[in-house]
Amino acid sequence: MKEEKIEVRKSKIDNLGVFAKRNIKKGEVILKFEGEIWSRKKVDKLESKNKELFEIFDKYSLQVDKDLFLFSKKIDDIDNFVNHSCNPNSYVYIKSPKEVFLIALRNVKKNEEITFDYSTTMYNDRWTSKCKCKSKICRKVIREFKYLPTKIKNKYYKKNILPKFILEQFFN
Ligand SMILES: [Zn+2]
Repeated sequence: MKEEKIEVRKSKIDNLGVFAKRNIKKGEVILKFEGEIWSRKKVDKLESKNKELFEIFDKYSLQVDKDLFLFSKKIDDIDNFVNHSCNPNSYVYIKSPKEVFLIALRNVKKNEEITFDYSTTMYNDRWTSKCKCKSKICRKVIREFKYLPTKIKNKYYKKNILPKFILEQFFN
């Protein structure tokens, strides 16, 4: 199912990325994130015990609740290649921690790279990275939701694309 819609190709943002193989309509499911659920406790343990696996975790996990992460260890899983953009064309929809989907935020043209804003699912005070998305509104650094400018927080709020654990934390 995934393969007819998207594929991994060389990306200008970061080495490899996920690209549309055909036009994708706004609201369409692009992919389902795969992996196992890890608790924050388990992650903290890993950090002190196994640096190597922890680095992989840091790169390929997705926060899906306040203290839960979806981690796909199979590095070649296509969902591990979706790059961040400060001006994304998709977003993460968390129906439940095991049912997590990437949805088109607008119409996506064939051959466009698929991106989402990593900050919209981050509430863990740990991870930052330089941003190379090259969009006109690039924030230069990827940090968690709480550091986003209010204007951008509100933009995502209005689009109604923020996960519940972010809404509960920041929009009470
Ligand atoms: Zn950027």
